[in-house]
Amino acid sequence: MKTLLLLVSVAFIAVTARAQDARLVCLKINDLNTKILNSIISRPEAARQFKALIIQLSEYLPINDDIIWTFPLQGYTASAIGGTNGNGYSDKGYNFLDGNKHAAHPAHDIFIKDKNQDGLDDRTMKAVNVLAVADGIVIACNDKWLPESSLRGGKFIWIYHRSQHSISYYAHNSSILVTPGDIVKAGQKIAEVGRTGLNAYKKRSPTHLHFSAFALAGGLPVPYNPYQQLLKSVKK
Ligand SMILES: [Zn+2]
Repeated sequence: MKTLLLLVSVAFIAVTARAQDARLVCLKINDLNTKILNSIISRPEAARQFKALIIQLSEYLPINDDIIWTFPLQGYTASAIGGTNGNGYSDKGYNFLDGNKHAAHPAHDIFIKDKNQDGLDDRTMKAVNVLAVADGIVIACNDKWLPESSLRGGKFIWIYHRSQHSISYYAHNSSILVTPGDIVKAGQKIAEVGRTGLNAYKKRSPTHLHFSAFALAGGLPVPYNPYQQLLKSVKK
């Protein structure tokens, strides 16, 4: 019995230590992401650090079976995705290392019903929940944004998905509920839809979630079109 207890507590300590190590790596990725956004790190150095950190992080995490996504907006379906048949997505010329100065729109804008632009769903008069598409760990986020800020993503979240070795990105939120190192489950509420970000704040922009997916090719985030995954995703 004593041996069993000892084994259980050793395992518990090991799991706790791993979670703490994973959080430290996530905080480092968050710092690096801020440097990339502010263009205060050279591209080769940023690439070197990102690759090393994501490998380190993947070693701390178990692989889960979460192939089918949850749609990232609660109460909405793929019909809320802007454009026609997902043509709002365009990644030509995009480079993660360009930070806030990046080109193209490697994303889908998913619009909520908000005619008066108060950030609330016109049908429910409530904020719309942003959900994690799959199990993962928060590797970067920004919870501070002011209208005079030039940051395009506003209040954003990056999540690393170990099983798919991919990253999802959620921008323009009004508030975010996670911090780097948080483990999230598929369908978990991580934020509320908002209008934060240089362009999303402007009157001409209807209220939406800007959603991207990245594969880790050569250790760096490379965007891919997640339209089919969004079509097949589970509505919550
Ligand atoms: Zn967008």
